[in-house]
This record gives sequence, structure tokens and C-alpha cells, in this order.
Amino acid sequence: MKRFDAAIIGGGIGGLMAAYRLKEKNRDMRVCILERGNMLEKRSCPAGKGRGCVRCNICSITSGFAGAGAFSDGKFNLGTAYGGTLGEELGDDEAMRYIDEVDRVLTRHCTGEAPEVYQSCEELKLKCLQNNLRLLDMNVKHLGTDRNFSTMLHIIEHLQQEGVELLPLHECEHIVSTDDGYELQIAGRESLHAQHVIIATGRSGASFLSTFCREHHVRTTSNSVDIGVRVEMKDAIWREFSSRIYEPKILYRTKTFEDRCRMFCFNQGGIVSAENNHGIITANGHAYADPARKTENCNFAILSSIHFTEPFNQPTEYAEYISRLANLISNGNVLVQRFGDLVRGRRTNEHRLLQNTVRPTLKATAGDISLVLPHRLLTNIIETIYALDRVAPGTANDDTLLYGCESKYYSIRPVFMNKNFELVDNIYIIGDGSGICRGLSQSGAMGIYVADAILAK
Ligand SMILES: Cc1cc2nc3c(=O)[nH]c(=O)nc-3n(C[C@H](O)[C@H](O)[C@H](O)COP(=O)(O)OP(=O)(O)OC[C@H]3O[C@@H](n4cnc5c(N)ncnc54)[C@H](O)[C@@H]3O)c2cc1C
Repeated sequence: MKRFDAAIIGGGIGGLMAAYRLKEKNRDMRVCILERGNMLEKRSCPAGKGRGCVRCNICSITSGFAGAGAFSDGKFNLGTAYGGTLGEELGDDEAMRYIDEVDRVLTRHCTGEAPEVYQSCEELKLKCLQNNLRLLDMNVKHLGTDRNFSTMLHIIEHLQQEGVELLPLHECEHIVSTDDGYELQIAGRESLHAQHVIIATGRSGASFLSTFCREHHVRTTSNSVDIGVRVEMKDAIWREFSSRIYEPKILYRTKTFEDRCRMFCFNQGGIVSAENNHGIITANGHAYADPARKTENCNFAILSSIHFTEPFNQPTEYAEYISRLANLISNGNVLVQRFGDLVRGRRTNEHRLLQNTVRPTLKATAGDISLVLPHRLLTNIIETIYALDRVAPGTANDDTLLYGCESKYYSIRPVFMNKNFELVDNIYIIGDGSGICRGLSQSGAMGIYVADAILAK
């Protein structure tokens, strides 16, 4: 059995940054990264070649080296206002120090022109406040999909040069205690041995994490789930915001139910994409930095947060159930509906879609989202669209497109032994899978923080 000082499960930004730090501080350390998906350069989605989602066994969009963020827009939040709660866990100053460390690594491996940094804007904040909306604001460094990809590629190459063993197509199934560490059991392959283990399996590793917690008696708490739609319209409608702060993230408390809805994951000139989460096809969005690849549209998510109380404790299953329903009535695809059709209580059909002024950037099935989303969620989303229309007129146009469904799960949150995010002796958790992070910079920061904790042992 091959032996390592530290094994990292998951090759997303969290895992990469943890490995980076371990090797940076101790070159002799034997470190490996096990990744269920492929090497970054081999990740390729058939949907991107015009074939639609073919439900690959391992989704190249969410899995593989560079993780869920590999094809993302590469927006690095240089602050703690959103993108997770690392600031609450470590204190804002310490969290910020680690976010700066992530930025240092990115800057070192980023090629070409320096990426643009968008500063926060008081004027837009006030405009939102006057309309009962809360603009979450901080500085954001924008790499863009292409530069984000090449930066990740350079970081991975650097890790390889530094002697980190990169193990693609290695899906860890179980972690078993031994006398002197842990045996990592891998699907269809020989086990590995490691003294320290970092679980960096992201959102797509939720079932691995729940198995681990069950087998190692780690308590978990149930969290919220966010469910909603991806919204697409002409780019010009949000240009006042996107040209000044790049990514508007806005919170709204709905009138009817007083629920929290959020607009986020904004993609200027972007495309809507489909994502395969264990056979469930959901909507998402991207944007390329290359002007030649920009579209005339922008897109963002509007999600409504639900926090379940006793006796129900399966929020992920609830969200999956709704997404499955969308797949069911759309023949295994993402649904798309015009906002005008939704509020008039009629489905969108191909004919109406062809006449729409907003051209869909994803080949989705025209249909009726009101047959999928429960009344409360649908009401929240419609109210939020009208509220956003007050600060960006045109958002509630008839031709605005809604793609369903999009959801974000934060259901399993393990209870840590200490402030180093240790779950059991020498097994740590970082990134989105921990229930703390929701973005690239905090996931990376948590990776560096835990690496420091291991180095200090
Ligand atoms: C389309 C999209 C766009 C986004 N855009 C942005 C953005 O612009 N800015 C931003 O801040 N955030 C963005 N995010 C969120 C960001 O990508 C995540 O917060 C971040 O990737 C989390 O990093 P992570 O390392 O915790 O997990 P992940 O990146 O999810 O990586 C986890 C890895 O673990 C692997 N894995 C899971 N289980 C196992 C197992 N059992 N064995 C081995 N490997 C396993 C997975 O294959 C995956 O590659 C975006 C997300 C998506 C999906």
C-alpha cells in the first residue's frame, strides 16, 4: 500500500490550495490528491459540443482537477461579505489573511494581463436600499473562464513539479482507521495509506461525506437549501451594475412569505449551462472573458432559501425531488419559460420561444415552471423579479427567460472537533463540502488554513 503524509480527497480549489501550502512549507512532505474526475486538460463536456447533456457517469463540469470552479467565470471575492461564513468561523481579519494568501497564489500563476478588480459602489448600494433590496458588496477580482482555466492548469502543473502525486479517476469510497493513520479505500483500485487526511470533496461529494460521518460517528446538522431558477435577459438591462461592480449580488425579503431570496452568480455576456448532478440535470451559468465569446445576454440565479424544521431533515432530497420533476416534464432536460408566459399562467412553447427577443443560450425544453415549483417558491421568485425590476428596469420583461431548476444544497454540515475543522483525529474538512464555503476564495482559504494546522502539529 502506497504511503503518504497527507492525502487530500478532491482536487477542487480547496484541495489544490491545501496541497500548495503543504509543499510550500515542507518540500519533503509526501502529499497526494485523489480526484474522482479527470485531469483538467481532459475534462470535456459533450453538451458543450451541441449534443445536450448525455448524463456522463462522472460529470466533467462538476468533477475533475480544479473542481466545480474549473469552467466558472473565475470571480474571486476579495472579502468575506458572501461566498461563505469563514469570516464568522475565524474572525474577519484572519479569514481575510487567508483569502489574501489565495490571491497571492493566483497572482503568481495567472498569465497575461492583470485581471480586473471591481470595487464596491456606494451609489448602487443606496439605490438598492431605497428599493428594499440589499446589495452585498465587496471587491471582486475577475479572471474570466479562460484565464481561470489556464491559472488552474498552471497551479496543477506546479504541484506536479513540486512532487504532489495527482491521482485522477480515483474515487475514495471509505476511510478506515489503522494503527498509524488511515487506509483510503478507492473504487476499483488499490488502497492508499495516509497519516493526515483532508476531505475536500465539494458539493458533489455530499454522499461520500454523509457515509464518512455515519461510519466515523461524526454528528451532522441539517442546513438550509436554496431552490429557484436561472434568469436570462439582454445584457444591457444590468449593465449599469455589471460595468461598475461586475457581479451584483442582491438580497430581498419577499412580501407574501417574508422569505429570503437572493440574486447571485451573475454572468455578463454569458451563457446558461446544464449540469448533471448524479443524473439530475439542473441549470447554471458561465461567462467568458474573451470578448469574442461574449453573448448579448446576461444571466443570474434567483434562489429562495428554505430552512426545514422538525421532523423533516432531508432538504437535499427535497431539492432533488423538485429538480427531478423539472427533468420529468421536460424529457430529461432543463425547462425554459418566458416570464410573460409564467405570469399569464401558460406554458412556453417552441413557437413563442422562436419569437422571443431574448435568444436562449441553452437548448432547454420550453415548458411551464409553475408545474414544478411549489406555490411558495414560485411566488418568492416572481416577487423578487419585480423587486429587481425597480433597480434594473426590464428585468420583469415578458421576454425574460427562466430556466428550471437551479438549486444549492448546504444540507450536511458536520460538527467539528475544534477550530481547525478536524472531524476526527487527523481528518479535516475544507471547502464547499464543509457547509462553510460557497465560493472559490473561501474554499481555497480554508485549504491553506487547514494545511497550516497540519504543519503546526
Ligand atoms: C458553474 C459554477 C460557477 C461558479 N462560479 C464561481 C465563481 O465565479 N466564483 C466563486 O467564488 N465560486 C464559483 N462557484 C463555486 C465554486 O466553484 C465552489 O465554491 C468551489 O469550487 C468549491 O471548491 P471545493 O474545492 O470545496 O470543491 P469542488 O470544487 O466542488 O471540488 C471537489 C472535488 O472533489 C471531487 N470528489 C468528490 N467526491 C470525491 C470522492 N469521493 N473521491 C475523490 N474525489 C471526489 C469532485 O470530483 C470535485 O472535483 C461556481 C460553481 C459552479 C458550479
